[in-house]
Amino acid sequence: MKAINVNGKTYAWPQEPIVVVCVDGCEPDYLKEALKAGAMPWLKGAIAQGSDLIGDCVVPSFTNPNNLSIVTGAPPSVHGICGNYLYDRESGQEVMMNDPKFLRADTILAAFAREGAKVAVVTAKDKLRLLLGKGMKGICFSAEKADQTTKAEHGIDNALGFVGLPLPSVYSADLSEFVFAAGVKLMKAEQPDIMYLSTTDYIQHKHAPGTPVANDFYRMMDGYLGQLEAMGATIVFTADHGMNDKHGADGQPQVIYLQDTLDEWLGAGVARVILPITDPYVVHHGALGSFATIYLPETVDHKSVIARLAKLPGMELVLDRAEGCRRFELPEDRVGDVIAVSAKNHALGTAVARHDLSGLTVPLRSHGGMTEQQVPVIVNRKLKALPAGYRLRNFSAFDLACNYAIPAATPQKKAI
Ligand SMILES: [Zn+2]
Repeated sequence: MKAINVNGKTYAWPQEPIVVVCVDGCEPDYLKEALKAGAMPWLKGAIAQGSDLIGDCVVPSFTNPNNLSIVTGAPPSVHGICGNYLYDRESGQEVMMNDPKFLRADTILAAFAREGAKVAVVTAKDKLRLLLGKGMKGICFSAEKADQTTKAEHGIDNALGFVGLPLPSVYSADLSEFVFAAGVKLMKAEQPDIMYLSTTDYIQHKHAPGTPVANDFYRMMDGYLGQLEAMGATIVFTADHGMNDKHGADGQPQVIYLQDTLDEWLGAGVARVILPITDPYVVHHGALGSFATIYLPETVDHKSVIARLAKLPGMELVLDRAEGCRRFELPEDRVGDVIAVSAKNHALGTAVARHDLSGLTVPLRSHGGMTEQQVPVIVNRKLKALPAGYRLRNFSAFDLACNYAIPAATPQKKAI
């Protein structure tokens, strides 16, 4: 049977339509609580008939590095996207990394499309669209800008009219619902061989697992996934990262302001702290996550700074570039001299004055660290035995779907 090779891995040609769903910020507890509340009947069945696993996402446990890992089947050391921002030491500029030119690897989506597969991608936010769709022939659009699609650029004219829902606000649950609604419509109308759906974590940043709003969100999603399964799809349900409270019992955010700290230790502006979570959409998290990278001049003793940072209360781990990049599989040329990761209920900031927390209407929840690394990897099919030592990652999604999922005994697609 035909197979393709992408980034050193082989992917068998899909025998059923494959839908990989990346639910942004889906801490496993969201599913546990929603199942308990009876909000996810599809998921309950998928777990019973299929495979219910937990895998590791990429650290920094942020959206773009993980979405790109899922579609390339590889860690950031291969695809190059290790956050939303990088610091270009030569120009002294902080540069956004969501331009496709920063993506160093082919995607599984583009590779299948080149071999003749029908591929469709729908993302919540437009910031991901160009990266996910790099080099890909097929349909690729965002819910955020569904009113601006053209056949030439997005593979579909007027996606908004096609989906038939109003254009959602970028800060809403509707933005993610639009992604699922689009997926169901596309499966019906286009029958893609491969589909990738990626949502936004607006709800997860604001609502803890088991809360009514969170359960409603997962109930909504479950209904659409049920429809996709009824059309015969192999579905892999995973997440880009988890999500945890980053506040104390008083509801106030617990933040280590690294730039302020280092300015005090070393002098103003000697160190440069980069928070790779920073992007134009920061209202729901104030650009506070659990991962930072720090650039230091050669005149500073890196080892002593690392040792001192590691002792700060609420810090989980501080490593130098080489060790950090080895451990987290990151591209050394896009990471600072120091990698800092905060503990479960703490976040890392730059300077107090540089974070606008006025949009935080509820206590801070965020991600970025190792404590948000465990994510669900659920397949609505049984899997062939995985090789000994197989490390399950969220970016194993296409490997599982193409190479290990056992197709449904009776193809349901024909019955529809
Ligand atoms: Zn995310």
